[in-house]
Amino acid sequence: MSKIRMTTPLVEMDGDEMTRILWRMIKDQLISPFVDLKTEYYDLGLEERDRTSDQVTVDAAEATKRLGVAVKCATITPNAARMDEYHLHEMWKSPNGTIRALLDGTVFRAPIVVKGIDPYVRTWKKPITIARHAYGDVYKNTELRIPAPGKVELVYTPADGGDEVRATVQEFVEPGIAQGIHNLDASIASFARASFEYALSTKQDIWFAAKDTISKTYDHHFKDVFAEVFAAEYQARFEEAGIEYFYTLIDDAVARVIRSEGGFIWACKNYDGDVMSDMLSTAFGSLAMMTSVLVSPHGYYEYEAAHGTVQRHYYKYLAGEETSTNPVATIFAWTGALAKRGELDELPELIAFAHRLERATIDTIESGIMTGDLASITSLPDPVRANTEEFIAAIASRL
Ligand code: NAP
Ligand code: MG
Repeated sequence: MSKIRMTTPLVEMDGDEMTRILWRMIKDQLISPFVDLKTEYYDLGLEERDRTSDQVTVDAAEATKRLGVAVKCATITPNAARMDEYHLHEMWKSPNGTIRALLDGTVFRAPIVVKGIDPYVRTWKKPITIARHAYGDVYKNTELRIPAPGKVELVYTPADGGDEVRATVQEFVEPGIAQGIHNLDASIASFARASFEYALSTKQDIWFAAKDTISKTYDHHFKDVFAEVFAAEYQARFEEAGIEYFYTLIDDAVARVIRSEGGFIWACKNYDGDVMSDMLSTAFGSLAMMTSVLVSPHGYYEYEAAHGTVQRHYYKYLAGEETSTNPVATIFAWTGALAKRGELDELPELIAFAHRLERATIDTIESGIMTGDLASITSLPDPVRANTEEFIAAIASRL
């Protein structure tokens, strides 16, 4: 059998701990036997990040700008304990944060839906994808404790020396609290563009929700920017693709999401996205079944699993104990990247392979063979609890 051809390489970002072990197994057993795999390899494992003073992370992000599609393994974000464990020179920043800042992206998280791992919400038949704006609002705020009576104002001082603008927040007659938040037109517009691009690339409807009836300037501006970007750049392409954009109030969106069948994208402001993505991943069953993709408004894609490096399992693995770590989200990071590469390079066989690998993975679980995290929540009768190696081997033989 001849292997499936690739033309442009993927940017491959290796990572840490148990997911680094899964990474090798997935490549060796599920991809390389079938695909003439071309990648530009960057080792984002913590040791290499430390050795290169984190330059390797920047290089990997720059390579993504050049090649367009990346697949990333989970990586350690160092904290005090990791400083000692890895004898680090510095507490390097989160690689995801660094990459996001360089690619200017929006993060989309979507659950992998399989029979036997049932969402808590009975009506959900298809995945619901959250698009979370990752800049500003309460994540970049200024807060004051107001200890005693006094006035709090918002003051805008134009840089060009124009007239100052003042607005009273509150005349405090007793102690309280106050907060100032902001956002930027360019950031909101790029969030809108990334969301619309993702809707087009996955052919799903997209909802955006805020609280413009209460926040008549701030949230209303989000609504306006989305509407302007949509009308100017996307309306015709959406009509052609047969998909829809609509705006509604955030509380109405929550009610509709619960009653829905799924199968759409929900664009959320920063705080809404933070809260709702955790709600959705739990309600769909398992963090180990959640994919994540960073989409930049310039059309770069970076695929990864939503979970971390699964440290606890790694220590068991190092101690020679059996592990049952779920590789599904990491497999889907690879298939997402391969399918996108296939789409951009017009390689239908590569796209078909990515879908076959996804199908083989889902079919393996639906046949009753699954890792421990799923075996403990499945509604299938008599599930077979496979260890890490057995589960990947079961997918390979089905493939
Ligand atoms: P985690 O790696 O997501 O794991 C937390 C727990 O969730 C695990 O101990 C395990 O539960 C369960 N779990 C997660 N993924 C699983 C899988 N694939 N299969 C089976 N069970 C799974 O989070 P963490 O332990 O808080 O973080 C570990 C490291 O990951 C940290 O250094 C953090 O910085 C990093 N991290 C990286 C990313 C990223 O690169 N995108 C994201 C988050 C965290 P049980 O132990 O109960 O089996
Ligand atoms: Mg959260």
